[in-house]
Amino acid sequence: MMEKVNCDFCRSNNYKTVIRQKDLIHKTSDEIFEIVECQECGLKFTNPRPKMEEIQKYYSEDYAFHLSQSTLKIYFTTFAEVIANMPFSSIFDLIPFVGKKLSQFVKPLIKDPVLKYFKAGGFGPLLDIGCGSGSYAHYWGRSGSLLSYNKYCEVYGIETNDKARMKISSYNIKTWENIDQIEKSNKFGIIRMNWSLEHVHAPSKYFSFMKKHLADNGKIIITVPNYDGIIYRLSPNCVELPIHLYHFRKNDIMNYAKMNNLTVTSLKTFSYYQMFVFASKIGLLPQSMMLKDSIKKAKAFKDIFLHIDEAGFGNDMIIEMQHSSFNS
Ligand SMILES: [Zn+2]
Repeated sequence: MMEKVNCDFCRSNNYKTVIRQKDLIHKTSDEIFEIVECQECGLKFTNPRPKMEEIQKYYSEDYAFHLSQSTLKIYFTTFAEVIANMPFSSIFDLIPFVGKKLSQFVKPLIKDPVLKYFKAGGFGPLLDIGCGSGSYAHYWGRSGSLLSYNKYCEVYGIETNDKARMKISSYNIKTWENIDQIEKSNKFGIIRMNWSLEHVHAPSKYFSFMKKHLADNGKIIITVPNYDGIIYRLSPNCVELPIHLYHFRKNDIMNYAKMNNLTVTSLKTFSYYQMFVFASKIGLLPQSMMLKDSIKKAKAFKDIFLHIDEAGFGNDMIIEMQHSSFNS
């Protein structure tokens, strides 16, 4: 059963359909989904949407796999990323097969904001909401995982996927299934939501949770897709429906922060080449966008996109927030 909902931010039921599409990315069903835009505050959300107890069936097998990548694969990815991003890496294009393989690992150097926080003297404990299996963290790989942050402070995770939670428990890291299970008195020096806020049914609940559980001078770090990102302008069908329930833009995040008396201290957008290659491969972007899969082209592409990212049109965004009362 699908449910129809009002705007999570302002509660209005005055919204307009922006796009209708099937699940073109994960292809888990033939249903048609809609994104609507709230006419009061501008928030865009999937509506109607699968209920909480049903959304799991729209997550593909691949998705679960992505949550618990093997150690070997993690080492390989880490190694390939280092090689592909070296200054003279395009020399590998001399062997087209190798150049093509490595080109997918070319990406802009975005420093993991959590490591940046620790290096600047930041403290724990750390809570990762949507932590996956804890050994690999999306863009930041192994060094951005709970397992790796454990060097700096106590770490905790929240993860709805049972398999992933079992894996993380094997590292002796405590996890919960949802935010309601955390005691009111628990405070964290850092709370992270790494590509998870767009999946939750009520972002407002998570913002108020983070506000309540953030230590006085702690930091909240959120990474989400940016619906203002250029890929969604080139091909609006690139959105992951129905598993992404919210399609945030800068202004939406600012609204939630303000409502919870949080200050955004940094907001950056960024893009990576592989996302365009993937969209071209599955026919959501013209084949000509795929370039030629060489390291040289991937690097040229990355350099152009640095400017687009800076203008706010990167496909993902990283936001850092803290309590407003602790602004210096
Ligand atoms: Zn609204």
